[in-house]
Amino acid sequence: MAITLPELPYPKNALEPYISERTLEFHYGKHHSAYVTKLDGLISGTDLESENLETIVKKSAGDASRVLIFNNAAQVWNHSFYWQCMKAGGGGAPSGELNEKIESDLGSLINFIEEFKTAAATQFGSGWAWLVLDEGRLKVTKTPNADTPLAYGQKALLTIDVWEHAYYLDYQNRRPDYINTFLEKLVNWDFVAANLSGSMSAAVAM
Ligand code: MN
Repeated sequence: MAITLPELPYPKNALEPYISERTLEFHYGKHHSAYVTKLDGLISGTDLESENLETIVKKSAGDASRVLIFNNAAQVWNHSFYWQCMKAGGGGAPSGELNEKIESDLGSLINFIEEFKTAAATQFGSGWAWLVLDEGRLKVTKTPNADTPLAYGQKALLTIDVWEHAYYLDYQNRRPDYINTFLEKLVNWDFVAANLSGSMSAAVAM
């Protein structure tokens, strides 16, 4: 199965004025696209060539001989997931099952927001902050570079990309402003809720 660049879930100017069309032209059109092209070349002719993206990430995780494959595969997966974590007119507060789960596992929405902001702001250098489901409980985590919760058996519910390429054109070195704007104006709680609802029903089915 060839690895392909998924469509963005919205036009490149949809997140303006918070994330510019120019940022998405580079971030999606150049960075994400380059990870797809590199990965496709790296798996060509190997036993991973016909595997799907999640399998490639999981099979290359922790394999010293496949660091390049892992880095590119994880970055393809992380970015495809990240685009869906935002929408025009996002922000606000989660409701229903997701809100209850945040309150029971993380104390309160305010506490979650603080933990998530801290994880995103303190990831040294490039990386990602996450809300994940880990053995049935919500956790806020951060990963360096390409690393991803998929490699640890965690279910990703939400992420923010804190590589400089995600925000430098719009926010320069002001990473905290980008993080605040992501949470206040862009986060797609419906997508987060659907991820939780999917994993909770899968867990029940098991
Ligand atoms: Mn990125």
